[in-house]
Amino acid sequence: MRYAILSDIHSNLTAFQSVIQDIDSRGGIDELWCLGDTIGYGPDPGSCIDLLRQYNTVCVAGNHDLGSIGKIDIADFNSDAAVTCRWTGNNITQEQKEFLANLPLTIQKGQFTLAHGSPREPVWEYLLTANRAYVSFGYFDTTYCLVGHSHVPVVFKYKEGESNCSFSEPISEAVVHLGTERLIINPGSVGQPRDGDPRASYIIYNSAESTITYHRVPYDISAVQKKMVDLRFPSMLAARLTYGW
Ligand code: ZN
Repeated sequence: MRYAILSDIHSNLTAFQSVIQDIDSRGGIDELWCLGDTIGYGPDPGSCIDLLRQYNTVCVAGNHDLGSIGKIDIADFNSDAAVTCRWTGNNITQEQKEFLANLPLTIQKGQFTLAHGSPREPVWEYLLTANRAYVSFGYFDTTYCLVGHSHVPVVFKYKEGESNCSFSEPISEAVVHLGTERLIINPGSVGQPRDGDPRASYIIYNSAESTITYHRVPYDISAVQKKMVDLRFPSMLAARLTYGW
């Protein structure tokens, strides 16, 4: 079986569509796993939810998903995020809101635990350092955990008997072989990458080969920025897409 693992699409339909084309060109998938924040920041929330649901999709909730439907307090967001959260809530249908409202915070799929931020605190915690990741290994029972939220592609590896974990930041086409070592894996962000590479980021998990492969996909960034300018979104949100930051 082949699975696409996507996170932080953030209402960037153009990037999402480019990723889907890339997946198709590689032979397609059986299931799509989404690690949350399908919406927020970008100009096309409803279309992103609809495209996600066209697939055999397993999805957890992110902070933007919950903020835009009033399930968590928008006061906890930075001001640019809060602006687009409010706008998103006013620009998706009741049915799309119900889809978001029914998303679980974590899901277990075979040897994987799926969470948006971390297995300890799925909505808000960022796993940006080896220290934070090390603590997180105590909060899930499966061999592997998949997280998003930081928008940075990274693999943390737990070493039995050591006081910290190691990590790597995989580049495009990097292959990670899944063995008995416990891993926390972040596929990076489709719609708003923050690792200095502006291309959309995602991974394909091949269960027969026990591998995950990182992919980066270029998309029409200026087309998305134009939509954001027309909607009078905070200018920094459009500008950052150019730099992948
Ligand atoms: Zn996000």
